[in-house]
Amino acid sequence: MDRRQWLGMMGATLVGSSGKPARAAEPRPAQAAQKKGSHIYLSEFQPKSMLKVPVTKIERAKFPVIDVHTHISFAAVNTKGVPMSEKMKFLAEPDDLLAVMDRRNIHTLIDLTGGFGQGLVDTVQKFHKPHPDRFIIFTEPWYPKTNQPGYAQFQADAIRKAHQAGARGLKILKVLGLYLRENVTSGPLVKLDDRRFDPMWEACGALGMPVLIHTADPDAFFLPTNRFNERFEELNHHPSWSFYGKDYPSKRELLEARNRVFARHPRTQFVALHVGNHGEDLADVAETLDRLPNMHVETAARLNELGRQPRNARKFFDKYQDRIMFGTDAVPPPYGNVTPQQIFGDKLYQIYGRFFETEDEYFDYAPAPTPPQGRWQISGIGLPDSILRKVYYQNAARLLKIRV
Ligand SMILES: [Zn+2]
Repeated sequence: MDRRQWLGMMGATLVGSSGKPARAAEPRPAQAAQKKGSHIYLSEFQPKSMLKVPVTKIERAKFPVIDVHTHISFAAVNTKGVPMSEKMKFLAEPDDLLAVMDRRNIHTLIDLTGGFGQGLVDTVQKFHKPHPDRFIIFTEPWYPKTNQPGYAQFQADAIRKAHQAGARGLKILKVLGLYLRENVTSGPLVKLDDRRFDPMWEACGALGMPVLIHTADPDAFFLPTNRFNERFEELNHHPSWSFYGKDYPSKRELLEARNRVFARHPRTQFVALHVGNHGEDLADVAETLDRLPNMHVETAARLNELGRQPRNARKFFDKYQDRIMFGTDAVPPPYGNVTPQQIFGDKLYQIYGRFFETEDEYFDYAPAPTPPQGRWQISGIGLPDSILRKVYYQNAARLLKIRV
């Protein structure tokens, strides 16, 4: 979850239980486009595929799954993209989540946005304590204190306290690099590899807590929102998702700052979320994995990227089978409704299962009338059992030191 999802969530809350974001009414063309040379709006174009190919229904994952990337809680107060409160908002009840998990063979959910201070304690109490095998909670930095004297040491101590309170890892939102500023919500952007965070990364390494880090965003979000942009519709609906211009660093600068952090803290295990946020360029992710042995990746909200290059993706999974984890970025409804590719529920896990377990071709990567992250379909990569087990749970279990 990040600022845009947070904003979406607030929007969803404002319009009530449907959870649909408010959208201005669009003018419609007067006539259907049956005359030669007439037009329809792109937003109205919902072509139905005439392709007839095998369809495999994956009702249950073949092996138990650890979903390393979900959001079932959030800081209740978020200012300009920065989580500000210890007070949390819980997005679902454990029993409602467990019903879906049991149907789909999801053994464990990792709630990355578990909060800090009392918020973390409350999140552990709500989800982990009653179901220790099923919900694992991560902590987050005290962003509101990052501009105060003594922060570096305070944050390292806070990691130790969070560990005692039950946190199993640390989550870094893209807040670091794109939202957090020198005066927290104003001033120049804080660099991702700023030295004030070094004791925090080191504390995680010393305690065996992996760091799951979201850096930057899709390449298209750093380009102008124009007719050449492959994510035009998405950015047009959500202009605040664009990081083109203003004082934003380039995507390359963000990824390089992230990689410098990984290199500087070799004892700390890092999971670069969303396929290292470079699913468009698996050769680049591979090069970084080769160079940095403490780096891992997971798959959340990037089936659109992996599944549009299934042969390339399959080779990537072969080569890095010990360093890839299953993640979805699932957010329970109605909060997840603004991002159909990550609404927690049966459909989401069925799509992920189909991608990993089958060689089905040309199917939707999200349950939505138009593909929300680029207008294309995906194909499955049909992983063999040995790799499937690693991706579904073994790699995550090793990193988190848990048994499934
Ligand atoms: Zn996320």
